[in-house]
Amino acid sequence: MPFGTQEFTYHLDADFFNQIEKTEVRRADVNATLVVTRKEEDYFQLKMACHGTLVIPCDRCLDDMEHEVDTDYQVSVRQEGTVLDDSLDELLLVPTTWRELDVAPLLRDTVLLTIPLMHTHEDPGMCNAEMMGFLCHEEESDNKDAASDTDPRWDVLRQLKE
Ligand SMILES: [Zn+2]
Repeated sequence: MPFGTQEFTYHLDADFFNQIEKTEVRRADVNATLVVTRKEEDYFQLKMACHGTLVIPCDRCLDDMEHEVDTDYQVSVRQEGTVLDDSLDELLLVPTTWRELDVAPLLRDTVLLTIPLMHTHEDPGMCNAEMMGFLCHEEESDNKDAASDTDPRWDVLRQLKE
């Protein structure tokens, strides 16, 4: 790689996110820009910016919901030693023998980390009514079952009366 700055652009689709392990990404349309600056013989700076949308399941109704992606991430890469060390937040140490770096995991994590732990349709009215109706109905019938079971304590009282 020459010294100076180079720019790469990628389009990330659902396959890109699911190829290593299955994620909750159902569809994806994300444009990523990666700017690599080689500052020294063994020192690079990576700047990535990702914009687009993911379609993931809503935690409330399980229906598709859109998640906007608008994020950037910056990391420096230094070639040093013989083992990969990714324990530092903004500095990645890669073995001096490496001739290339797979940026796919960095892009994948950068985008996936934008998904909140709990994600639902912003307005509950946008949730799939049929699915929600089904879930409520399930709850109701569970309660009914519980209520129809006679309390054993009443049986004892009844026996006492007799
Ligand atoms: Zn929903």
